[in-house]
Amino acid sequence: MFIENYIQRKVNKLIKKSATSNPEIIMRTTLKHIDFDYAPLSKNLNGYYLYLSKNKRVIRVNSSLDEIKKQFVLFHETGHCVLEHEDQVLLDRADSMDSVDKLRNEYDANLFASYFFKIHNNIDKNNLNGICLPEYIKYLISKFL
Ligand SMILES: [Zn+2]
Repeated sequence: MFIENYIQRKVNKLIKKSATSNPEIIMRTTLKHIDFDYAPLSKNLNGYYLYLSKNKRVIRVNSSLDEIKKQFVLFHETGHCVLEHEDQVLLDRADSMDSVDKLRNEYDANLFASYFFKIHNNIDKNNLNGICLPEYIKYLISKFL
């Protein structure tokens, strides 16, 4: 199966289970076992994901990002959780949205976030170019249009 299909299935399932595509509500309900918050992180960090055990995971998203990036990064970190990435620490640097990441888990989390972002914001071919995200992320979103 193509990774895109797998990711779409995972996202659709999570939205159905949560009865919303709002990532903050999903964090407080379906994924409430995950310790999530916004935090003032350093400028070169968008967020991070900590895997301590299956039931002990931490997500932090940089609170100083603009709203669109904040949302995308939250979708990205949610992707690490839902795709069961078990790396102990995944740091998401500010430049990680600019080009393909060599790490498979980062690529998959970006794909997950791109599809989720597309669904939540009703992105289509007509409004894709108007969104304020890096070109590379728009390219990933366009895979689902
Ligand atoms: Zn990541």
